Amino acid sequence: MENFSITALVSKLCPLDISEFPLETDLDLPYQRSITIDVIRTRSNTLTPEEKTLLEQLLTFYCKTEMVSYKQGMNEILAPFLLLNRQNIPLHVCYICFKNFVAKFIPTLFVDDSFKPLNGLFIITKLILKYHLPDISTCFNNNEITPDIYMTTWYVTMFSSKIKDLNLLYIFWQNLIESDDILYISYFGIALLDLFKQEIRKRESLNLPNVFKKICIENFETLQTVLRNTEKIKANTPLTAEIILKKYNMFCLESTDAFVEALKGFICLLILPKEIITQTYPHNMVCNCSDPKTCKIKKLNYILIDCRPNTEHKQGYFLNSFLLSKSTRKNEEKLLNYPKSFVSYTKNTHIALMGSNSEEEEGSVVQRLFNSFIQHEFPYVSIVDGGYPACHRFVMQHNLEIKSHKTLNCLACGMSEKTIVESTLNKFFLVGGMHEKPVDKIVIDPIDSEKIFRCSLDETQSIEDNSLGLIVTSSQLIVYNILRSKPKTVYEISKLKKISSHRNKDDVLYFNFSGDQTKQVFILKPTEVKEFLMKIRKSYQKFKHTDRLEKSNS
Ligand SMILES: [Zn+2]
Ligand SMILES: [Zn+2]
Repeated sequence: MENFSITALVSKLCPLDISEFPLETDLDLPYQRSITIDVIRTRSNTLTPEEKTLLEQLLTFYCKTEMVSYKQGMNEILAPFLLLNRQNIPLHVCYICFKNFVAKFIPTLFVDDSFKPLNGLFIITKLILKYHLPDISTCFNNNEITPDIYMTTWYVTMFSSKIKDLNLLYIFWQNLIESDDILYISYFGIALLDLFKQEIRKRESLNLPNVFKKICIENFETLQTVLRNTEKIKANTPLTAEIILKKYNMFCLESTDAFVEALKGFICLLILPKEIITQTYPHNMVCNCSDPKTCKIKKLNYILIDCRPNTEHKQGYFLNSFLLSKSTRKNEEKLLNYPKSFVSYTKNTHIALMGSNSEEEEGSVVQRLFNSFIQHEFPYVSIVDGGYPACHRFVMQHNLEIKSHKTLNCLACGMSEKTIVESTLNKFFLVGGMHEKPVDKIVIDPIDSEKIFRCSLDETQSIEDNSLGLIVTSSQLIVYNILRSKPKTVYEISKLKKISSHRNKDDVLYFNFSGDQTKQVFILKPTEVKEFLMKIRKSYQKFKHTDRLEKSNS
């Protein structure tokens, strides 16, 4: 925080040597009047009449050049950037900073006239809130406080309306930019609610909206506390839960509705088998990283509660897991009081619930037990996605021990790979998007003599965990399932638009294909990246060449 400087903030959003360009425009939008009115109300004690004129001009310029209609919130975000002009930052740089800031954190929020991405952000933030502050989450539910009442300004103004002091706001924005994390805004908002927790819990529901108005950051100490708490919340969010939430990119407008529908089915944060199995089994047997102390996936302390019926426990269970007894499963009262036996665990223990079904249905034991924990105001409770079958699959892949495993009767052993994958989130991750295109109608190039580059399609799975490889032919890039000796997905190299690699990791490649909105991620062996890219380039150039020939012939 001490490192804050205006130049540092600006340099993260805009190259300082960017050449000047004209920002003049006629104030003649059909709804110009609403911009004028909003400008009058924006930071009215701070902005001079000249600055207000500039603010209206820049807002109009933005709407015209970005081809979006004006929306409330833009003014609150732009004004602080405009005021950087007082600190000798050229006006066109102030403008670019605003534009890039919006593009980075709320890219399509102002594009969509109904603020569609907000609904998704609300659900995501509510899930995180429930994980960290179950008492506040329950209080909101009981008082019918919906997220739009208190969360809208978080995203639409990027907290500009909650942090009136400009220097404090700049510090927050700098932290946000440095976090490079789209969930940071949610964590910050939750940290702010946490600070006003007593106040919120004390109030009657009718008074709550007034409390929200009062929740602001007015001095440096408060900001410091909230920023520290933001870091704590981030540190205490399961890595794989974050990965899952980030897959639902609400700013991808084509998918927003589907994502919102999918997330409505979540009663809490889900974690992936890898995260919990890394906890219950010795680290070196599960994880490839060298040091468990710095291991990202092992950062939290977990207990695993196995909620399957007793008969299923008898066919096998995991090391270090708590088995829910038959009598607790059957008795509502016992199930409700079960969490009490975990009170002695420190506040830093995370609890993962695992059921026998991949998809937990409404009213299942897992869901009811989850609700019991929330009633007892336990933070840090999640459900393992895919339940026992998915964890079982993970354990088997790593040759780990399953206690008293009776493979003949074990239900999970009897399940086909396909059933497990189709009933978990994996279906979503493995295809790299919601809509997998059918493979069978495409004619696939001969691949027998081609090299297979081992790969992973997902940051949570190491290359070794996968049986996937990439094959490059003269016209196609094929994702190949080595175990089944079958192509999984086929991409036409002629449709390749762009290849980029991860900022810090050369072995993580992103492929954009035309007609496909999402970026395809391929993680390769670092030693093979170069060879792989050479091969792609060769095929691509050949295609460019024939493409040109065909064009000149016609
Ligand atoms: Zn590790
Ligand atoms: Zn089994």
